[in-house]
Amino acid sequence: MRLLCCFSLLLSLLVPLPAAAEWYREERDMMGTRVSVELWSQDRVLGKQALAAVFAEMDEVNRLMNPWDPESELSGLNREAHRGPVRVSPALFRVLARSIEYSKLSGGAFDVSFASAGQHYDYRKGVAPSKEVLEQAVSRIDYTYIQINAELRTVRYAIEGLQVDLGGIAKGYAVDRAMAALQRLGIESAVVSAGGDSRILGNLGDRPRTIGIRHPRKRDDFIVMIPLEDTAISTSGDYERFFIDADGQRVHHILDPTTGKSSGKVQSASVLAERAIDSDALSTTTFVLGVKKGLELINSLHGVDAIIIDDRGVLHYSDGLLLGSDLESESEAPATP
Ligand code: ADP
Ligand code: MG
Repeated sequence: MRLLCCFSLLLSLLVPLPAAAEWYREERDMMGTRVSVELWSQDRVLGKQALAAVFAEMDEVNRLMNPWDPESELSGLNREAHRGPVRVSPALFRVLARSIEYSKLSGGAFDVSFASAGQHYDYRKGVAPSKEVLEQAVSRIDYTYIQINAELRTVRYAIEGLQVDLGGIAKGYAVDRAMAALQRLGIESAVVSAGGDSRILGNLGDRPRTIGIRHPRKRDDFIVMIPLEDTAISTSGDYERFFIDADGQRVHHILDPTTGKSSGKVQSASVLAERAIDSDALSTTTFVLGVKKGLELINSLHGVDAIIIDDRGVLHYSDGLLLGSDLESESEAPATP
């Protein structure tokens, strides 16, 4: 906030700006999270138009992919696709196809059919499925049952009872769409966020924006601050949606597809990539893979980096963040397990 104020002041001293040049901001609760946008515009009408364009894109993705809305295209697919191929919108097809690519790349750690088990959890009410329900549900988690045909743009589920939820990738996709809309309008400096998925366009004139990664065990603290420009960053954490069960175990919303239970290898995984669809899917993937396999995957990908906080609160960085920086791998973070 202070940086932004300094920037506005600096500009007003140096450049003869049109009267309406300013930051435009808006936040709304949607897609089960808080969506926020902040953009710089020299023109009031354009600034307002740009804010509206962001929320229009978010609304559209929500309309197609919200698993809780029985009217969404995804809900229709979940009801129908086990009966035979269903033709879907280009947007839904694109996100599903990308999901399957990440499933293959991660050996199944990322799998949108996790929802076959995920649908039996209610984190707000503290409800987890029984052993029997979970066993049956886990047998239906397997992305290879989701058969897609790119030419016909169809999707078919090879078994009954399989459920897809795009919660690990759709917010990133929505952020990308919103950013593309801003760029079409000529906006050059903006941040769009949907929960833990953000995309940063441009900078603050003379410096990059500073984005914070939340401390996984101290609600209002940041554990790392990173200067960023023209990039996407997503964080998956075990502290967003969770409850502590009768055995004292943390039950949260990122599931290991092999067990249908919360993945406990790390507390948080943040991924940097050019696009938010990729940083979103990869943050969930890295969270499930854990430090060693997660960093192996991230280091094998061009233009992608990660910061992982392990189950003891220790920070780990991908190679791209260590090269030429003062960051230290496996440095002790002031986190409590
Ligand atoms: P958030 O939704 O809090 O931003 P993530 O991007 O990590 O966090 O996404 C977590 C969501 O991803 C879960 O709420 C669920 O919808 C989905 N998900 C959980 N486990 C998996 C998994 N193994 N593969 C793909 N998606 C998953
Ligand atoms: Mg994600």
